[in-house]
Amino acid sequence: PFPAAPQGPVPAGASGAAGPATGRPPLISVVVPCFDEEAVLERTHRRLTTVLGALPDCAHEVVYVDDGSRDGTWRTLTSLSGGDPAVRLVRLTRNFGHQQAILAGLRAATGDAVITMDADLQDPPELIPELVERWRAGWSVVSARRTSRAGESRFKVVTAHVYYRLLAALADQPVALDTGDFRLLDRAVVRLLTELPEGEPYLRGSVCWAGFPEVSVGYERLPRPAGRSKYSLRKMAELSRRGLVSCSPVPARMPAVVGVAWLGGAAMTAAVRRHRLPLAAWTFGCEAVLLGLLGEYLRLVHRELRGRPPYVLLERHPPQPDEPAAPA
Ligand code: UDP
Ligand code: MG
Repeated sequence: PFPAAPQGPVPAGASGAAGPATGRPPLISVVVPCFDEEAVLERTHRRLTTVLGALPDCAHEVVYVDDGSRDGTWRTLTSLSGGDPAVRLVRLTRNFGHQQAILAGLRAATGDAVITMDADLQDPPELIPELVERWRAGWSVVSARRTSRAGESRFKVVTAHVYYRLLAALADQPVALDTGDFRLLDRAVVRLLTELPEGEPYLRGSVCWAGFPEVSVGYERLPRPAGRSKYSLRKMAELSRRGLVSCSPVPARMPAVVGVAWLGGAAMTAAVRRHRLPLAAWTFGCEAVLLGLLGEYLRLVHRELRGRPPYVLLERHPPQPDEPAAPA
């Protein structure tokens, strides 16, 4: 299982985790990105409101994000909300994709803790009380970890398994395995993530980068009760590309590594055979190394452009309640 952050849970009030400082009950937001989900939304809403209504000492809101659906999703959402102030709706102009839709929801959510989950009930709403309980114990991030994936094709299970292990091996900070975008984020984490100017969010990577105390809770991922997966092969490929490029320095450095290995290999062969390094070997090796150098500069530019602060504060002693968790 994914190890908890070394610092462990933070006592209530220290990092702002586990609720508001004033005496009011904490507000829990649930963000649900929806793309062509008309077939399942009524069921999802019913199960969500049942679970949320039963949460002890908590207020709640649900933020549905219509990510440019082409079916009756928006109509269904407006009729589900029916003027209920606890249901907030956000509609994007077109289909921007799952990660962007979640980000739009995080920006619209006002809760002390925000839970992100899929619309299709593959992420069971019944896990929410457990997520909230861990948050109240002081964890800033509570991820739901898939212990099984009954409802998915063999292709998806195998490619996801291999891909996330590859990503974990290449990433420059630990990546949680077997977790998607079903998780609870404390307000401090949401504030940090929503202030980043990143145009191409990869939230599970950003959450790991942010480094807040994280714990995971296992669940069984069930099949979709209705509708079809909205993750086409193209969208899956795009998400994996985004993950690798945003979490790992390896793709940018790859040419340099290949170049150095090539030059080393060619030099050794030349030494053993007692002849000179052929010109073609020199040129290819040097070109690759230079490309890697360019890659390294591009990474630096990319790092500045995505506007991540150089570090994130967890807490201070004595606490200074007016200080933001991250430098502005
Ligand atoms: N989704 C979205 N925009 C997209 C694709 C998907 O908002 O472009 C939403 C979708 O409605 C669902 C969640 O993201 O709530 C996960 O999508 P899906 O269930 O199709 O993915 P899978 O579970 O098959 O990986
Ligand atoms: Mg799904």
